[in-house]
Amino acid sequence: MKTNDALVADIIRTVRDVPDFPKPGILFKDITPVLLDGPLYGRLIEHLCDVVKESSADVVAGIESRGYLFAAPVAARLGLPLALIRKPGKLPWKTRKASYSLEYGTDSVEIHEDAVRPGQKVVIMDDLLATGGTMEAACRLVHELGAQVVLASFAIELKFLNGRERLGAVPVETLIAY
Ligand code: AMP
Repeated sequence: MKTNDALVADIIRTVRDVPDFPKPGILFKDITPVLLDGPLYGRLIEHLCDVVKESSADVVAGIESRGYLFAAPVAARLGLPLALIRKPGKLPWKTRKASYSLEYGTDSVEIHEDAVRPGQKVVIMDDLLATGGTMEAACRLVHELGAQVVLASFAIELKFLNGRERLGAVPVETLIAY
């Protein structure tokens, strides 16, 4: 994917760093100022559309909740199905669940059993790659349903947390790395 230097610079300038949120020691990358800048958000979505087109995915999956801000417009723009990966207990129909470890304890994500079909090529989108735990669990759900994860796509990556390692062989695309 060609780098888009002007877009990268504008996003870096716009993302807000919030120290000690949601707990002490975490520097939170707040993307809400990007959403408030309509033209910039639009350029980011255009870029992500190009990334997804190049992956030849036939389904776009988004991880609740900030992943939806990217997955939904990209899926609609490209005319692709949108599959939701949600926090536990939110999806009303038959679900699959995958758990992953956090610093303290575990968390999980769920997907509807009919959200992806065997053999489909899926791109999973989230706003930010940190430790990779959430995306790794999302990939397991897609694989369990017999589909292939052709790409894990993020706007932002925190490289020092080595999230890519946790994702193993799954291809990863990020626009901005810190
Ligand atoms: P992880 O499972 O550790 O890769 O965490 C990924 C999820 O947590 C993403 O959905 C992010 O939205 C969120 N997240 C983790 N760390 C940060 C951070 N420093 N700033 C903003 N969001 C974060």
